[in-house]
Amino acid sequence: MHDHRKLGRELDIFDTDPLIGAGLPYWLPAGAAIRYALECYVRDLERKAGYQHVYSPVLGKRELYEISGHWQHYRDGMFPVMDMGGEHVVLRPSLCPHHALMFRARGRSYRDLPLRMAELGGQYRSELSGALGGLTRVRAMQLNDAHIFCTAEQVAGEAAAALAMIRQAHAALGVEPVRYRLSLPGRSAKYVGSRRMWDRASAVLTDVMVSCGLSFEPEEGEAAFYGPKIDVQVADSAEREASIATVQVDFYQPERFSLDYIGPDGAKHRPVMIHRSVVGTAERAVAHLIDTHGGAFPPWLAPTQLVVLPVTDEQQAVAEAMTRAATERGLRAEIARDASLAARIRAHHLVPYLAVIGAAEAAAGEASIRLRDGRKLPSMGIAHALAKIDSQVKAHTVELWTDRAAGG
Ligand SMILES: [Zn+2]
Repeated sequence: MHDHRKLGRELDIFDTDPLIGAGLPYWLPAGAAIRYALECYVRDLERKAGYQHVYSPVLGKRELYEISGHWQHYRDGMFPVMDMGGEHVVLRPSLCPHHALMFRARGRSYRDLPLRMAELGGQYRSELSGALGGLTRVRAMQLNDAHIFCTAEQVAGEAAAALAMIRQAHAALGVEPVRYRLSLPGRSAKYVGSRRMWDRASAVLTDVMVSCGLSFEPEEGEAAFYGPKIDVQVADSAEREASIATVQVDFYQPERFSLDYIGPDGAKHRPVMIHRSVVGTAERAVAHLIDTHGGAFPPWLAPTQLVVLPVTDEQQAVAEAMTRAATERGLRAEIARDASLAARIRAHHLVPYLAVIGAAEAAAGEASIRLRDGRKLPSMGIAHALAKIDSQVKAHTVELWTDRAAGG
């Protein structure tokens, strides 16, 4: 394990500036490339699983959070209210209330359910400055969020599907959870709603974990104020645990927002809301990826995927053409010319693919591919090499070169 703060700066992933403020990191080009790749991957996964993407504003009226219950139960974590000429708005502490209103804004029928609404959106937490640091304790974050509005009968199936999606994404990222936690309410007064509601929601989540064959640890006092949750826990280099993904069952907010749909019987029914996140916030996800991989990211996430190395200036034109062809394919590629070949290979030891082009390779239109793990592949045609690297990247795996993904 590595320290994401130190590596994050060294690798041009993120940094902070006191003039911007504590807990407000900015993303440098390498970090932006990783985050963009992560966002595209998650959106694609969600789209294929029947989610619809939306955008909603990062501000909302105080009244909205009074209805959702955040104002009463989560106020310590919220930014101060801004008075806009008598209208009181606040930076949102979560996306749920906006999505509940978007569900309510149209008449819904049972045929529309399950309705899966996803957004990669900003949310804000008023952490004290002493607690802030790196990408893990921040005041502004981008959450991979979704809310599934469904019937009571659909809850177990939807929660299990969300859990399966989480496991698929974590395999692609090379993330190994330390444990699954069933987060239950504690004795404090912050947990809202009836005992029956909590028991029902906890029973569904327990059944889902058992049917998925996952072992888990129940923990009291870790639930959201509105419902219990499955939290997928990871640990950092100091063995501090954090939730990187979650599935929550909520009977409370549909009640508070008076959500309904028309059932097959023509009458109004109340939907259940499942809150789920596959990778959590972009900030925490990337911090954990840096911790886990030490900068040697899976090929599809690597900020630079391919570096082309002409042995001498004679091969410059061929190397430039290869770099251009790679970029046109959508790969993140660059050329490295200065310094000795050995020094250039060392300097790019975190890059998954290096393409060395000497006199013989240039004459034949070929390149020698070196993988990050030290493997050297026999010289191959440049177009063929790029097609193989591209298919490996598109396979979204942690493997550098597999026959299945790179075959043909
Ligand atoms: Zn939510």
